[in-house]
Amino acid sequence: MASKHSLRERILLRTTTSVCPQCLTRIEAYVVKEGEKVYLEKTCNNHGDFRTLIWNGLPAYESWGDARLPSQPVTCLTQVDKGCPYDCGLCPQHRQHSCCVLLEVTQRCNLMCPVCYASSSKTGFQDPTLEQISEWFDTLLNCGGPFNIQLSGGEPTERDDLPTIIEIGRAKGFTFFQLNTNGLRLAAEKGYASKLKSAGLDCVFLQFDGVTDEPYFKLRGKSLLSAKLKAIENCSDVGLSVVLVPTLVPGVNENEIGAILTFALNYLPVVRGVHFQPISYFGRYGVYQEKRLTLPDILRAIEEQTKGLMKTNDFSPGSAENAYCSFNGKFVLQPDKKVRSLKSNSSCSCQAPCTAAESAKKAQIYVARHWGSPAKKICCSTDNRENHHNEGSLDSFLYRLKHYTLAVSCMAFQDAWNLDLDRLRDCYIHVVSLDKKLIPFCAYNLTALSGKSLYRGQV
Ligand code: SF4
Ligand code: SF4
Repeated sequence: MASKHSLRERILLRTTTSVCPQCLTRIEAYVVKEGEKVYLEKTCNNHGDFRTLIWNGLPAYESWGDARLPSQPVTCLTQVDKGCPYDCGLCPQHRQHSCCVLLEVTQRCNLMCPVCYASSSKTGFQDPTLEQISEWFDTLLNCGGPFNIQLSGGEPTERDDLPTIIEIGRAKGFTFFQLNTNGLRLAAEKGYASKLKSAGLDCVFLQFDGVTDEPYFKLRGKSLLSAKLKAIENCSDVGLSVVLVPTLVPGVNENEIGAILTFALNYLPVVRGVHFQPISYFGRYGVYQEKRLTLPDILRAIEEQTKGLMKTNDFSPGSAENAYCSFNGKFVLQPDKKVRSLKSNSSCSCQAPCTAAESAKKAQIYVARHWGSPAKKICCSTDNRENHHNEGSLDSFLYRLKHYTLAVSCMAFQDAWNLDLDRLRDCYIHVVSLDKKLIPFCAYNLTALSGKSLYRGQV
């Protein structure tokens, strides 16, 4: 399918394996550079040619790679049989340990977003029982856990026994719990944030698509900004940290990137981070959209929209996962409101190449330490405790490092169009399936154009 797309010089950067978006059959794929854009190209014998933009502009694709030394999972629950991505369990061909594990505790949701990875609904399947969830924790311990746990769904707060789930996990030795939520219950129910905090919740991963109501209308079907603000306030009151999680959709909210970061800086120390997720076309967004936001698009938007406060060079590729999955950076807000970059690889501070296992462990510790640090109440940058230290002293700097550091990151999930199995095999974010297997997140959510899912909902 070569030269028909462009008269520009085309450079084959590498070959890999992907799937056909129509039938999910494994097919060869080519990473091809044209000017500053990079495409994944593939051909299915039955369904024809596919070409998807995977990298748009600077920093150059070739300059972004990493040098990790792969590590096999501690325990493999499946064997290599049909080939990746059909053998997830994890299988012995996987190249990374688990770090963050998602437990989908319900498929029900109190919203009906036009965009939903999990295709959740008001009713959904029957929730897994507490006994089943307890067995999931045991499976994770057998597979090298305890890992960081993300309580996910559906909307996990639809379950009244959510605090009990956290308590069960804590009793089994799991030390970090994050709640993936739209925040509606946290905003509406007095005392709910406190209940979750007392049960052992460390961090709220709050769906947060913008600082105006427009993106919520478009992506979630209703105005939600005031509920988000109330949820953050209620978390702040009980010292529960919050990470803002914007789903970025071209033409909807990529122009709010800078405003979201400014908002987050203003809400330090309760807001600990911003984690951008450019839209992927799976779940309830299974229809292919030509427009894509790639990692460099978002890096450049951050620099432009923050007017250089945060620069592309302040960010690094993730090291626990494949470098082309993500970027991250850390920024300290100074008393004079200036922002200082703490450039390092967030999941690995040493310079030597890490094994994948070392990187995964470091990422696990980093997330727990930074996103889960006890949040202080929302306040302005004059802070009484800080005023006890001389401004400019080491004490003062360390104090700001602890309480006024914002982690900014982005993960570009893979769907049936841009799936690169080399990337997928490095994945460290895994979902526990109903039959107690560990499935890399992007494989778990993989959806064919027909709506057929490879793993979600299968037993
Ligand atoms: S994604 Fe990993 S676990 Fe799943 S089939 Fe591929 S190598 Fe095996
Ligand atoms: S979830 Fe997807 S994008 Fe994230 S690390 Fe895993 S494979 Fe990469």
